[in-house]
Amino acid sequence: MLHVIYIRGLVQGVGFRPFVYRVAREMGVKGEVGNHTGGLLIRAVFPSDNVRERFLRRICEEHPDVASIHSLTTCTEPEPSAAYTAFTITSSCDDADEVTQVAPDMAVCPECMSDRTTQAHRLGYPFINCTHCGPRFSIIRDLPYDRERTTMRPFRMCPQCRAEYEHPSDRRFHAQPIACNHCGPVYYALYNNVRHTCYDDLLRLASRLLREGEVIAVKGIGGYHFVCDAANEQAVRRLREIKARDTKPFAVMFRNQETLDAYAAVNETEAACLASPRRPIVLLEQRKPLAPAVNPGMRTLGVMLPYMPIHYDWFERLDTPALVMTSGNRNDLPIALNEAGANEQFGESVALVLHHTREIENRTDDSVLHVCGALPCLIRRSRGYVPEPLPAGAQVDGILAFGAEQVNTFALGKGDAIVQSQYIGDLKNWETFRFYTGAMERFTKLLRFRPRQLVCDLHPDYLSSREAERMAAATGLPLLRVQHHHAHAAACMVEYGLKRPVIAIVMDGAGLGDDGHIWGGEFLCCDRSSYRRLAHLEYLPMAGGDKAALEPWRMAAACLHTWGLPMPAEFVRRIGEERIVLLCRMIDRKVHTPLTSAAGRLFDAIASLLGLCDVSSHRAEAPVLLEQAAAVTGRFYPYRLDADGDVVSFRPALEDILGDMEDGRPAEYISARFHATMAHLIVGKARQLTVQTGVGDVVLSGGCFQNKRLVTELQQLFAVSGMRLYVPSHIPCNDSGIAAGQMIIAAGR
Ligand code: ZN
Ligand code: ZN
Ligand code: FE
Repeated sequence: MLHVIYIRGLVQGVGFRPFVYRVAREMGVKGEVGNHTGGLLIRAVFPSDNVRERFLRRICEEHPDVASIHSLTTCTEPEPSAAYTAFTITSSCDDADEVTQVAPDMAVCPECMSDRTTQAHRLGYPFINCTHCGPRFSIIRDLPYDRERTTMRPFRMCPQCRAEYEHPSDRRFHAQPIACNHCGPVYYALYNNVRHTCYDDLLRLASRLLREGEVIAVKGIGGYHFVCDAANEQAVRRLREIKARDTKPFAVMFRNQETLDAYAAVNETEAACLASPRRPIVLLEQRKPLAPAVNPGMRTLGVMLPYMPIHYDWFERLDTPALVMTSGNRNDLPIALNEAGANEQFGESVALVLHHTREIENRTDDSVLHVCGALPCLIRRSRGYVPEPLPAGAQVDGILAFGAEQVNTFALGKGDAIVQSQYIGDLKNWETFRFYTGAMERFTKLLRFRPRQLVCDLHPDYLSSREAERMAAATGLPLLRVQHHHAHAAACMVEYGLKRPVIAIVMDGAGLGDDGHIWGGEFLCCDRSSYRRLAHLEYLPMAGGDKAALEPWRMAAACLHTWGLPMPAEFVRRIGEERIVLLCRMIDRKVHTPLTSAAGRLFDAIASLLGLCDVSSHRAEAPVLLEQAAAVTGRFYPYRLDADGDVVSFRPALEDILGDMEDGRPAEYISARFHATMAHLIVGKARQLTVQTGVGDVVLSGGCFQNKRLVTELQQLFAVSGMRLYVPSHIPCNDSGIAAGQMIIAAGR
């Protein structure tokens, strides 16, 4: 009897075939294994049923760490006439059209780190990799995935690498980026007008500069990083000048888990995320500060662990517990990719730029997540995650989703899989927009994607919507416009495979509603094709339009003015009476004052009232500061709300807050109560709406749920509520998740 086993998931380009080969050989199984449509196909003849069962168990339990199995199906066929005499690996499937599986970039594995000290041709080699680790997405140009179609093409394998590459039992069998000191990429730098290529010299030089408090730049997997000593205040300040970044926290790379433990609290899930081969930045609760300029005023710290050999090499030569590692760009430009780009953006301003000779085909930023309860929640999905497809649970083939405008990603539908692009950024930036269109072209080519249906946001002025319109006009393809918060909700639905209607609570920044107002505090009942707006936060005037999102004091004044509440003296003193009067006049005359129900603006208003942030220097600064301000311990009662009807008003809450302020209550107390108010509103409203509609599943989405305090509080409240709560995990709750939501709605229609 011939058994046909079909495995789907992240199983291509991660050493799965050699793994199956080894297990089969060990167990006396005959047959073959090869790549197949979005997965792997094993055809096998087993000596006994017992062996078959053990074989399958081993496949599921012992597979390479970086791989993940979504499904495994088996069926049987009569044995073919030409029986198998051994177990073999069949070569890559030629029909690249079918392949959606390109592996993400993975951190160097422990075996490779050990090979660096034992293998003669790889002693100290900084670009060592194997079938389980190393670059993938960042170097791939075309499919099928083999060396000729990656940026490793110019590097001809030396005989030794070639032998390893061709030997099925070698750890580097078919490792496309295989390389060694004789044949692979190298680091180089220009220093004092001398070109250095010796890795040891470069390492010594870089380490000396870092020790002396200099800022250097280095080319990594998906782009350049700035690096400096995270314990050296002066160095970090210099980096702030170079990046022209006022207060936005920098991510740091710690030497190892033990060192990190002294500086931040790490639970089991966080430790697992940090150590995973995807090596994201994990936001942690800080215990002990590094240099204050790393994360001014923050209780959290963005942390990652070394993931390239050079990172380990630095720490071996330095005493510092951590290095700042932040994307190599100025302001909000896309990170630099190559020597020319790096020199142009910051060549003159850093002490040293370390380049290397492996080209980056696809740019990726470091991914970012935090853990709520025991749930890892991605905030930025890029290196280590992209382009792993997500199962859509529906046909999405040919759908191209353009996403939103800020923290943009786009998505392509291939069969029944959603392929999300890497994190792109804010499209209003011209260079970022070019990155957006360029990445779209690359993905289209790479996946042999033929768009048949376009889908974008309802907002006509988003640059992503305009690009969609342009393409629709040029190609004649149908274009669907999807309401922003419905897309947020749908993204969470697809992640959890929810197909029946849900109650969706979307607390967000801004998104155009179908009544022409700006939504963002929405209680919806929706499925994958349509939605009903059951309730929303009260509309408030956003005096100055977009400016109000950058200047939280405007929302504070607008709330007080609209609700006829007194302006606290301290607030008036800070802002100035004249500006407030002017703003109130704008509101009364409805000049440049759209209406918004966005929860994000409420967070802004409270942050400003409490004196935490009147004008933000970067996106979402005010809500983050408000969250940071909230007291960690104690019980906090929610403020009063007017929440029974379909319009929820925070007026009573604001009245209470003013009272607390008058009583001299500290910001940490008021912020904690405000968070409790939001949480209780959401649970209470969810309960009311589930009773009203008979729908028992509740999904959360929208940028406000990047607030860990709020989400954790909700997880606890929902755990005892009898309602099922779904929190975005793999698809970010912010606008990075919009494209995936748009796609599933387009499929649903
Ligand atoms: Zn490895
Ligand atoms: Zn070699
Ligand atoms: Fe949004």
